[in-house]
Amino acid sequence: MNDNYIAGQWVAGPDTTLNINPSDTRDVVGEYSRASRAQAEDAIAAARHALPRWAAFTPQQRADALDAVGSEILARKVELGDLLAREEGKALPDALGEVLRAGQIFKFFAGEALRVPGEALASTRPGMNVAITREPVGVVGIITPWNFPLAIPAWKIAPALAYGNAVVFKPAELVPGCAWALAEIFSRVGLPAGTFNLVMGSGRELGQVILNDPRVDAITFTGSETTGRKVAQAAVGRPGAMARFQLEMGGKNPLVILDDADLSTAVECAVNGAFYATGQRCTASSRLVVTEGIHDRFVAAMVERMRALKVGDARHPATVIGPVVDANQLQQDLSYIALGKAEGAELVSGGEHRATIDGQPGHYLEPTLFTGTTNAMRINREEIFGPVASVIRARDADEALEIANDTAYGLSAGVCTTSLKMASLFQRHLQAGMVMVNAPTAGVDPHVPFGGRKASSHGPREQGRYAADFYTTVKTAYVNP
Ligand code: ADP
Repeated sequence: MNDNYIAGQWVAGPDTTLNINPSDTRDVVGEYSRASRAQAEDAIAAARHALPRWAAFTPQQRADALDAVGSEILARKVELGDLLAREEGKALPDALGEVLRAGQIFKFFAGEALRVPGEALASTRPGMNVAITREPVGVVGIITPWNFPLAIPAWKIAPALAYGNAVVFKPAELVPGCAWALAEIFSRVGLPAGTFNLVMGSGRELGQVILNDPRVDAITFTGSETTGRKVAQAAVGRPGAMARFQLEMGGKNPLVILDDADLSTAVECAVNGAFYATGQRCTASSRLVVTEGIHDRFVAAMVERMRALKVGDARHPATVIGPVVDANQLQQDLSYIALGKAEGAELVSGGEHRATIDGQPGHYLEPTLFTGTTNAMRINREEIFGPVASVIRARDADEALEIANDTAYGLSAGVCTTSLKMASLFQRHLQAGMVMVNAPTAGVDPHVPFGGRKASSHGPREQGRYAADFYTTVKTAYVNP
């Protein structure tokens, strides 16, 4: 049995959940405990209790603990990658890449624990000294989605702990396996009991406990926009002190392909950005905005390239595109494909659900490409979160830029061009937190800021040194010596 980890103990919940492999729904990855509301409260109490003990750790001790977590993740890359691919359905190379990234994130923040920034300034008042220091925020509630079962928890947990906070971690219900594996590693690195807590179960139950408990000082959330809004409302609706909150939500990321783009670069960026990880990335390129002069060549090359994308068991070596994560998400993808057709888009590749592949029952969906779409169609306005992309034809670069920015979201955006002038222009004017030139819209290094604008995000950036803005609170201190 894989239990919750609360106050340094493994704790069984009142019931359990079965973790099912989306590549083969007959395969049960494991049985995982679900925590009760009272147990989530115990975890919060344990985190509060641990705060002064964790604060008493020296920066070197904190760094060593995080480094040990990173080292173990890296040492067990193949095993954890296999688990990730098995429970989430991400093709093995992507799953291994995610494990690597998680390990690197822990290593990065191990270093940051030794470099907590501060400033000393001269005051405008003679003789006075001003020191600006950063202190832990307190107890951080961490609520994560299923699409990056290891990397997203890593990029929240690692900085939270590096800067001296205690953590209550509630992973998505579909992926308890990676979360539990992470907790098991944490249970052996010598943190004070309660510094890191894992509670597995439903967002509506446990998530709500975390959001509403005044002992939780900050909440970091990645998931849907609908839930993100609930997090925000709960954070500001509390009596007394409001919770600090950070939200990473949807995307409807454009990849612009200009007439002068290198065709094979453009196709690789589009295929990777739109379909890798089964399109289940908030940074996926779901709108391919293509100018007149290259449009037909691009579409023909995409259709050709998409034929070679082997859909199958995430852990099979030939697989490029794994299954959709579960039946609900598959239903959502299929209903958007039906909607695209109803809106008058032309389906030029994929679109079919395959109930079995190689005799295995799974949630398989062929990568899907629509052409003849307009930016006003719902398939181009709403996040689908599956292997579905649309081509939108643009007259010229100006119109392409306008279409790219005409969206409620602003997470990531890309452009394929061989012109330095165009690359610079798009880099400057794309309204997104992350801009990629001749690179897929998805895929950010572990040490640089991640986050978006508009309806995609709220609050400070994640990852890299910018994470300190969320996980620390600034103190300005005057000393009159
Ligand atoms: P996704 O589409 O990625 O599943 P969700 O927003 O539904 O997006 O879920 C993201 C995370 O938020 C999950 O851990 C989920 O359990 C949690 N969650 C869902 N609903 C709520 C809620 N009402 N309050 C707090 N957390 C929630």
